[in-house]
Amino acid sequence: MYCVNCGVELKSSEKTCPLCKTVVFHPDIPAPDGEKPYPEFAVPVKKFNRAGALFVLTVIFLIPVIITLLIDLRLNSAVVWSGYVVGGLVLGYAMFVLPFWFRRPNPVVFIPIDCALTILFLLYICLNTHGHWFLSLAFPVSGIASLILITVVALTKYLRRGRLYVFGGAFIALGGFGMLIEMFICITFGLKFVFWSVYPLVACSLIGLLLIAIAACKPLRTSLDKRFFL
Ligand SMILES: [Zn+2]
Repeated sequence: MYCVNCGVELKSSEKTCPLCKTVVFHPDIPAPDGEKPYPEFAVPVKKFNRAGALFVLTVIFLIPVIITLLIDLRLNSAVVWSGYVVGGLVLGYAMFVLPFWFRRPNPVVFIPIDCALTILFLLYICLNTHGHWFLSLAFPVSGIASLILITVVALTKYLRRGRLYVFGGAFIALGGFGMLIEMFICITFGLKFVFWSVYPLVACSLIGLLLIAIAACKPLRTSLDKRFFL
């Protein structure tokens, strides 16, 4: 039995809590008249002002945005380099502040938004620097990385079991992704394919297969389940 007020463990013979003197209620012992088995007043719980904290964070993000834009416009009479700073700040805001405006941020909604903003930011940098690496490198690489990430996040969120299979599959996909990265780099910069990406592929595949083996082997999985709550 525990004290309803302070939570201290009580002997069944106890009539009041030895720590906070709250009257103890026991279903088998009749409660003394006039004395309530619960504390007279509820202890007020201080509520965290979420909207206030988010407002302050938003202002903290906005200040450098405005200052950067003003300096750039004053010096160059155009958005020259401030676009990168502002883009990076917007990306950071979308990733680390925006989801917390919602009571229960859903990663399956926010991660695709973050991925799309990242790809747009890369496109902006590429266009602004007159680069030729967006379509042949940045877009496919960030696109595939986003797809792998979104798939893993969605599956781990909505699947009740079999997460180890998901992680195993994700590792193998990452290994294959390495080969694609090498291919896109070769295409973009006119380099020779030297198969460096075979090493990460082998390493990732081994980890992935190990996870799948653990998932498939029931006794092993149950013992890991108990230790790590996988
Ligand atoms: Zn107590």
